[in-house]
Formats: sequence, structure tokens, C-alpha cells
Amino acid sequence: MKKDIPYRTRLAPSPTGALHLGNARTFLFSWLRARSLCGEIIMRIEDLDHPKVKPEKIGEIYTDLKWLGLDWDEGPQSLNPEITTYGPYIQSERQNFYSEAFEQLRQQGDIYPCTCTRADIQAAQSAPHAGDELFYPNLCRDKYTDPEHAERESGKVPAWRFHAPQGESVFTDNFCGTQIEDLQLFSGDFVIARNEKSAAYQLAVVVDDNAMDITEVIRADDLLPSTHRQIALYEALGMRPPEFLHLPLVIGEDGRRLAKRHGDTRISQIRNETKTSAQKVIGWLAYTMKFAEFGEELSMQELLLRFDLKKIPHKAYVVREKDLQLLGLI
Ligand code: GLU
Ligand code: ZN
Repeated sequence: MKKDIPYRTRLAPSPTGALHLGNARTFLFSWLRARSLCGEIIMRIEDLDHPKVKPEKIGEIYTDLKWLGLDWDEGPQSLNPEITTYGPYIQSERQNFYSEAFEQLRQQGDIYPCTCTRADIQAAQSAPHAGDELFYPNLCRDKYTDPEHAERESGKVPAWRFHAPQGESVFTDNFCGTQIEDLQLFSGDFVIARNEKSAAYQLAVVVDDNAMDITEVIRADDLLPSTHRQIALYEALGMRPPEFLHLPLVIGEDGRRLAKRHGDTRISQIRNETKTSAQKVIGWLAYTMKFAEFGEELSMQELLLRFDLKKIPHKAYVVREKDLQLLGLI
């Protein structure tokens, strides 16, 4: 833990879709963890993923979280709207922070323009790689002298990739334990900006978590591989990384991350279209973490008394029919 500053974590929803049972579980966990450590919770909206961002989802996410009983100390609709020290809290308003880091990386020679399409990268795969993401065999690393050159050659504005370090990256996750990965074997050089004026997720999240003095990043474990990339960026930028805690996902019976194909599991659906109470949803989320019996109803305050990191299963939680029935979704 960073001892000199208080515990701070963030809720970082992407308004590309609605809040569903899976992200609600991660946010509930973050709330419990922060409150049990007398820490602070920051709301940050990650709306850089154009064109998938749906601005109308932002308000719905706040409403859903508040309906469940979650609150946060800083950011939009927070308990302390007068605190703006770490703002703005919406990523699309923070490009100047990202540009500064981008310039630093460029001056250090850590990034380069890349004009590859997905098809180019697919065609260059020499072997199948783990994960959903395509391995990038550093095709553009020494190809262009500058972005103008890249644009002239390819006829398009280049993205920018970070020259990832060679060798094993190691960190200790506060839930999953020791994590080891060789970025050059796993992902290759990775994208940090869609173009010079538009940061991509990996850079934005590092710049923001650093600028907002986040001491522990909490998120679902599908982002574990990203953490190695982010740690490499912290190092390149001369910043001290926060601690990380990755939680298992909520998945469907087919083993895939909870999504539309598993039925409607949006919190707004439960809130608007069923008679299920927020306490019942909280009780069920608590049940998936082994803090409650199936069907129990709980307030946030009651649940806080039962919070115990050690009880949480390390396996993904599989949503079955009985769960959807309990929540009034079928
Ligand atoms: N905005 C990301 C998401 O909703 C979370 C990213 C993070 O926590 O680092 O999946
Ligand atoms: Zn390329």
C-alpha cells in the first residue's frame, strides 16, 4: 500500500453499454473494499472508446448504482461535488493530460506510428496466441521515420504503439497473487493512442490512475493481461504504479463473460421491469461472493459488516437459471 496517502480506488465504467450483474458485482466489491478500509471512491467515466460510447448510458449507470445503494466520494454525482482537485472525471475531457504523457513517450523514443489494419495483423500471425487479442509482431517498429511519412505511405492517420520491453513482467495482485508475463511473447508492442490527439485505453488509464492518486485499481480479471502493459507504461513515464486487485468474472453457462446472449441482466431491467428490490440484488451479489445465503436480502451497511476478502471464490461465478429466477429476470 502507498502509506503516505489514504486508500483511494475508482469506479471506472465505460458507457458503451448498461451496467449488468457482472460489472455491478465488481463495483459493489470496490465499494466494500474501500469503505472497509475507510478509503475514498472516485467515479471516472471511461468514454474514449468511440464509436461504441453511448452518452445516454452515463446517467443510467449513476442511477443504477445509487439504486443499489452505492455512493462515491468524488466525481460526477458524488457525495462531495465541491471536491474538484482531481477532475475532470470524464476521460473525454482529459486529453491534455494524455497529450503530455504522449509527448514524453515520443521524446523518449518509446512509441512509434503504426498503420496496420486488423487484416494486416491477422495475416502476420505466425502462431495462435492466448487471449482474445491479436498478437502484434511489431510490423511498423522501424518502418516510418515520422507520422507524416506513415500517413503518406499508407494514406491514413497512424495509431501509436508502445515499444514494449523484453523479458518477464512480474507483479503481485492483491487477490490473484503473482502474475508473470512476457509482453513480447504475449501481445507485442501495443496501441497507446488511436492518433496523436486521441489516447487509447492503456495510456489513459495509467495517466488517470496516477493523476488521481489511486492506490489500488480494482477490476475484473479479464484485464489482468492489460496490467502488465500498464506497469510497463508507468515505468516508462517514471510513475509509481498503484496496487492491483483483479476479481473473477461473472460468466454464463457457456463459460463466456456475461453479455446480452445470456439474457437481459441489466440492473436497469431489474429496477424498471421487475419487483425485485435493491436489497435482494445486493443479497444475491453478496451470495456470489460467499457473504450471504441464496435469497437473502441485505442492505449495504449489513453487507459491509460481513465483507471478507478471504471468502471470495477464485473461480468465475456462473449465472444459472435459478439466479435469473431469483432476481425476477425470468
Ligand atoms: N472502463 C473499463 C471497463 O468498464 C475498466 C477499465 C479499468 O478498470 O481499468 O471495462
Ligand atoms: Zn503496424
